[in-house]
Amino acid sequence: MGLTVIIVGDDPASRVYVNSKKKACEALGINSQEFALPADTTEEELLTLVRKLNEDDSVNGILVQLPLPKHINEETVINTIDPKKDVDAFHPQNVGKIMIGNYDFLPCTPAGVMELIKESGIDVSGKECVVLGRSNIVGKPQAMLLLHQNGTVTICHSRTQNLKEVTKRADILVAAIGKPNFVTADMVKEGAVVIDVGINRLPDKTLCGDVDFNEVSKVAAAITPVPGGVGPMTIAMLMKNTVTAAICQNGLKD
Ligand code: NDP
Repeated sequence: MGLTVIIVGDDPASRVYVNSKKKACEALGINSQEFALPADTTEEELLTLVRKLNEDDSVNGILVQLPLPKHINEETVINTIDPKKDVDAFHPQNVGKIMIGNYDFLPCTPAGVMELIKESGIDVSGKECVVLGRSNIVGKPQAMLLLHQNGTVTICHSRTQNLKEVTKRADILVAAIGKPNFVTADMVKEGAVVIDVGINRLPDKTLCGDVDFNEVSKVAAAITPVPGGVGPMTIAMLMKNTVTAAICQNGLKD
């Protein structure tokens, strides 16, 4: 079984993420290989590599680390990955399956959030769920997964009016906007569950989330820290997807 990670260029954050993914594979005994391509790699060169990996039976999962350099169209690259090897679950075919609720892979970060909720014994059914952010990789699929669990879901974004009024309604609040310490205690209902997806690097190089942890933890019933909350869950879900890919490709799924 194996995971292949492709990284293009030398973005330091991407390098950290790729290293964590490789380490997780090692810890679990999953083969991993990395293609570290220079920043001036052309789109066609990258697509040729992806097509080659699609045909390679020893490769179960293909992950192209985002963001890609500006001259490469991310959508074209994602659309070229074999959906059966798409362990990030970004291919439109997998996105569609998630919408319907009949899927093999879930996108790693939203799946990690759902796992945290489940393992904490929190029942989503009937709860007011507010998702801050509507990106294709976090906000939208997150909302869909909460909906599948019978949450009443509101998605907020940069044009949302009266944001504080909306977030204050949330029994479960998921923040994924990429703005350091944006969610303050006055935006959160007493006893809410707050999940912080954000990873922001401050000028002093420390990491922080989208939620003001120190203040919000005084009103929330449960809250995830950054680092050490959703981030490790994202990696765990990638490992799960890689195993699922291997099982499906080897006809072992019942
Ligand atoms: P994007 O930049 O793609 O999306 C950000 C979203 O937040 C957009 O929908 C945007 O709205 C919304 N937004 C921005 N500002 C505001 C605001 N002031 N009020 C309300 N909504 C706002 O980010 P991602 O979804 O890719 O990532 C979000 C965060 O999660 C980042 O910090 C990222 O680093 C982190 N992340 C963490 C992962 C993990 O493993 N823990 C994995 C992936 C991401 P609009 O659409 O209107 O522009």
